[in-house]
Amino acid sequence: MLFYSVGAAGLLLSWRFNRSRILLALLSLLMSYAFLEAFTGKGRAVDVTTASMVVGGILSINFLVIAFMPERGVLSSIGRLAVLLLSTEIAIVLLLIAVPALSSYVGQIRYYGALKAMTWTPLSIVTLSMACATSLVLLIRTLVSRSAIDAGLLVAMLAALAGLHFIGVSKAEALYFATAALIMQATIIQDSHARVYFDELTSLPGRRALDEQMMRLGRHYTIAMVDIDHFKTFNDRFGHDVGDQALRFVASQLARARGRAKVFRYGGEEFTLLFPGKSLDEALPFIEQIRERVENTPFVIRGITRPKEKPKIQTEKSKKTRELLTISIGAAERSENLRTPQEVLKLADKKLYKAKSGGRNQTAS
Ligand code: GH3
Ligand code: MG
Ligand code: MG
Repeated sequence: MLFYSVGAAGLLLSWRFNRSRILLALLSLLMSYAFLEAFTGKGRAVDVTTASMVVGGILSINFLVIAFMPERGVLSSIGRLAVLLLSTEIAIVLLLIAVPALSSYVGQIRYYGALKAMTWTPLSIVTLSMACATSLVLLIRTLVSRSAIDAGLLVAMLAALAGLHFIGVSKAEALYFATAALIMQATIIQDSHARVYFDELTSLPGRRALDEQMMRLGRHYTIAMVDIDHFKTFNDRFGHDVGDQALRFVASQLARARGRAKVFRYGGEEFTLLFPGKSLDEALPFIEQIRERVENTPFVIRGITRPKEKPKIQTEKSKKTRELLTISIGAAERSENLRTPQEVLKLADKKLYKAKSGGRNQTAS
């Protein structure tokens, strides 16, 4: 009962937040748990190892699918594909329950590859290998993308695996599966938080995060406003998509700023750097370093394709173009005249205009 209530609450939450991937993960957990109960209930001929192999296999496959599934909302075409996946699995399991000969045949698979049953766990090598493979993929994805969903899927997968390992030990599986379902709920909150605080295009913290950080600044700090030069022309020349690539490129350069700088996307092609505890003189070398790095690092434009009328010229497809971008920066520090971060930011913005009118690709303070 415990698991079903937590799972149902999670389903409602993911429906409300329109998170198809988490909904599918929860459905997979609910379904797997129901299978476990059906398999290992009274009078069933399926042994624990076989049951956990089927359930573990289903969870491993589904979590792997979910990891690579784009988020398109609950009622998307991908959602329908997910329903197809789940119903196929339900059909397979019903068949296994209905035909005992079939499940005993599946039971043989666990010794596949001449690997003996292990004494420390009721799980078979097949279950463990599949779960480990999925967990490894999720771990890599978590480290690379740092997305809350991949991390949530990974921990939920491990919790469910622990549930399968401790199956039958005073209903431990209910506790572990409920934990997995709770983790998926926490993931919705984590993911929503990330969406609010982080800019989707550049992955930098956004305006809301900046507002929050500005409230925490002490008595000494410097703020710099950064704006890409002639970005409108760049967009006009290469199109909006390449413009987006360029924004990501500049953001990645800014993110490497030293001097304990905090970098935010302020909006559009403007960024803000906060230097907590640093005076203007202390922050300026770091600011200049960033400006020079952007100036000196060519931005490689990928995927510039020829118009569709000329598809014969294959070599043009992978052609890379290198463009140099520059940024202008305005910087200001807190002083007795400028007591609030908002006032300091306003002055930094004024200085930015000075840098622009002074010829761009420079820092004004
Ligand atoms: P200046 O050197 O004076 O800054 O010239 P500019 O062209 O960069 O200045 P302006 O503010 O006129 O243009 C900013 C342009 O940035 C306009 C808009 O098309 C583009 N832009 C803003 N946000 C985005 C975005 O998210 N993606 C893309 N591709 N372009 C953006
Ligand atoms: Mg601008
Ligand atoms: Mg600009």
